Amino acid sequence: MLNPWRSEFSLILLALLVGVFLGKLFHYPILILWITVLTYLGHHLLHANRLIEWLRGGKANELPKGSGIWEEIYYLIFRLRRRNRRRKKQLIRLLDRFRTATAALPDATVVLSAGDQIDWFNDAAGKLLGLRRNDIGQKIGNLLRYPKFAHYLQHENYETTVGIPSPVHENIQLDIRIIPYGDDLRLLVAQDVTQLRFMERVRTDFVANVSHELRTPLTVIRGYVESLVDNADKLPENFGRALQRMEEQTLRMQTLIDDLLTLTRLESATHQITQQRVDVPSLLTEIHEEALDLVMESKPKLELSIETGAGLLGGRQELRSAFTNLIHNALKYCGDRDTVLVRWHDEAEGVRLDVSDTGPGIAAEYLPRLTERFYQVDPGRGTGGTGLGLAIVKHVLARHGAELKISSAIGKGSTFSCCFPGHRVYRHAGMTDESA
Ligand code: ADP
Repeated sequence: MLNPWRSEFSLILLALLVGVFLGKLFHYPILILWITVLTYLGHHLLHANRLIEWLRGGKANELPKGSGIWEEIYYLIFRLRRRNRRRKKQLIRLLDRFRTATAALPDATVVLSAGDQIDWFNDAAGKLLGLRRNDIGQKIGNLLRYPKFAHYLQHENYETTVGIPSPVHENIQLDIRIIPYGDDLRLLVAQDVTQLRFMERVRTDFVANVSHELRTPLTVIRGYVESLVDNADKLPENFGRALQRMEEQTLRMQTLIDDLLTLTRLESATHQITQQRVDVPSLLTEIHEEALDLVMESKPKLELSIETGAGLLGGRQELRSAFTNLIHNALKYCGDRDTVLVRWHDEAEGVRLDVSDTGPGIAAEYLPRLTERFYQVDPGRGTGGTGLGLAIVKHVLARHGAELKISSAIGKGSTFSCCFPGHRVYRHAGMTDESA
């Protein structure tokens, strides 16, 4: 193709030459010049009109005829339209593939628009959530009428999931997660966890039953061992040592069973958390005094610092068990010259208990595993621990909406912090900080 501007300028030059020649010939140069300019303008208006017609409704794959710069303009627009058409086709194909894939997903998937209205859902959503085509445009909260779900939807803390029964059949248990994306859009994914919940219940019941059944024979054995230990002086010396070991081990087994029962009780969905007003300063004072009785003269120093009078809404017994575990752990793992400091204080969003010690500390690689059941950093150390203490602490805190934070450095000590959110705190009228 010739350079369009060159051919356009050649056309203008030719028109002017013809105009000048005719002007000279007929002695009306100005008039002839006007006619030439108007003809040139008419030529452009004609092409502009052709372009508009073509863009409005002409066939996108047919290029209008043109010359000079118009040929180039038509071609460039044609190329742009062809590229857009190809891209559109690709997008449609991609969207189709995405829809087919999400439709085949076993999990219910619902696209929610800004006002929580249903935009689209897959087949599984029809089966698990009972959605029908004419529910599109409806608010999801009007169709899934469960207070837990409504709270989850409004609360906008989508890091966790919410469990509800399926509206189709109450025996189907669903785990719902909302994933925000784009501007104000949200994806609701519901997973059928009926089988999983059933297996969890079987496991919890099994552990609870076994622990319960072991408790009675163990109490009997422990009673006999204790009375034998009391009369150890009448027995040969090596019997006495063996009996002492037996007493230690039965005590350990009893602690293990008690811890297992506590854990299964905490895990059980039917075991609802009580909403007592727990006077934490007095609870901590109580635990502190008991711990002081346990700590022998040579053991680490134990200090209590109550810096707020705030209390908590929750279960006193559960909180007692969590706090005791942390304090006893610190005392258990510290040496004679160490110090354990227990601090109860306010923080920006709520209240916090810090149990800090100057003990041996824990290497960073072990920290993420500490709250796993039966996990012990050094099982051969013979502390008599069960490895269940921190798992209990984590469960109790989770039930109170709180978080366990652990910071530690080898040779420097550890701090275990229980961070309670503002909505769990209660302060009685006239209470000021430091007034506990
Ligand atoms: P255990 O019954 O063994 O104490 P826990 O679940 O309470 O079980 O603690 C898990 C592990 O975390 C312990 O075995 C110990 O290694 C480590 N640990 C807990 N508290 C401390 C602490 N204050 N200092 C050092 N290590 C600790």
